[in-house]
Amino acid sequence: MLKGAAIPALGSLSTFSLPTLAAAIQTNSTPYQRMKLKITDVRTAQVRVHGSQTHVRIYTDQGIYGQGEATDAAVGAASLIRGWRRMLIGRDPLNVEPIWEQIRTMGIFAGAQGGQYTTALSGIEIALWDLAGKALGLPIYQLLGGKFRDKIRIYCDSDMPVTNQGQLGPEAERKLPWIKAQGFTAMKIDLDDARDPTRWDRVNWTASNGEIDRIVKFVSNVRAAIPASMALACDCHGRYDAPTGKKIAIALEPFKLMWVEEPCPPEDIDAMADIRHSTSTPIAAGENLYMRWGYRELLQKEAVDIIQPDFQKVGGLAEAQKVANLAQTYYIPVAPHCVVSPIGVMATCHACASFPNFLACEWHWINYPDYWTHWVKEGQIIKDGFVTLPDRPGIGVEMDEAVAKKAQIPGTPWFEPGK
Ligand code: MG
Repeated sequence: MLKGAAIPALGSLSTFSLPTLAAAIQTNSTPYQRMKLKITDVRTAQVRVHGSQTHVRIYTDQGIYGQGEATDAAVGAASLIRGWRRMLIGRDPLNVEPIWEQIRTMGIFAGAQGGQYTTALSGIEIALWDLAGKALGLPIYQLLGGKFRDKIRIYCDSDMPVTNQGQLGPEAERKLPWIKAQGFTAMKIDLDDARDPTRWDRVNWTASNGEIDRIVKFVSNVRAAIPASMALACDCHGRYDAPTGKKIAIALEPFKLMWVEEPCPPEDIDAMADIRHSTSTPIAAGENLYMRWGYRELLQKEAVDIIQPDFQKVGGLAEAQKVANLAQTYYIPVAPHCVVSPIGVMATCHACASFPNFLACEWHWINYPDYWTHWVKEGQIIKDGFVTLPDRPGIGVEMDEAVAKKAQIPGTPWFEPGK
């Protein structure tokens, strides 16, 4: 009797069971009910400021779009992205990783492991994250697992010509006090000089003693002109050969540099490892490597002290996070190469917040202050040498098109609808 009476009571209770209730809450509560989005178009714009960049926009049926940026190998990005557009239309843009993996694997025979292919993919990936953030009302760092830090340390690439046997020229006299006044805690100079009068061959990059002396004098003069507390990095751009790279790193040991960058061509990992293990000067490389696979051997052989993925080339923000996490297994820090607009720098900063082993991020628009300050509607994003992460959805900054369009590469489209 009791058992028989309980059956209808349980049946009516099942209408309001916990799973049913949870589903009802999920359907009707906005924090858990995300917009059902479909990609409707993918458009690009190409600009030239410090090098050429391709800006990407992914549009949806809900009136919001995501923005991304690709750099360095971006010249061919627009046509690659045009080729992916048809496959992307109709897709749910919040499936960032599956879309990334599909594009990567479908390009196996088209160089999908690096170069322009991966650069173009980086622009798409970053636009998808911006879109996901805007759709969900969250900043990108939150989507990447949260932030280890509120402010991202930026170092200033001084972009100065190497002058006159290591003496500081007028440009250095102007820039070095400016860099200090801006509050940067770290900066970088270039060491390689194709016009050095003690170079005896136009092709071979074995440095003469005169060239080594010029490098040491230049570093010494810059070091003396900046505060002792400011970290100094030096870039060789992978031009010198392995014996020269080793000589430079050893000769610069007294200056306690933050790093010497690409002291030899980066594709020879054994040569880089030999240099690293011959000197107390930290060695950095990585701006010309792509995705996790590009860094695996470099890290396994502990060929560098610091890695420098470029997030607008390496495969995007989540891929950069994976590379950083791989480096963390060797306790190697990450100092991103970064030469892009405030949109790309801010996107990079979101990812830099999301892993523990972040050191400093590059800023390379010192020669383009007007573009830098006005490229996004939010204005100057670097204050006292740091970028503070915004809590706005997505990347959190938006292009001022009237300004950015002035840098458009003539004859290229400007976010024109795809066909
Ligand atoms: Mg470099």
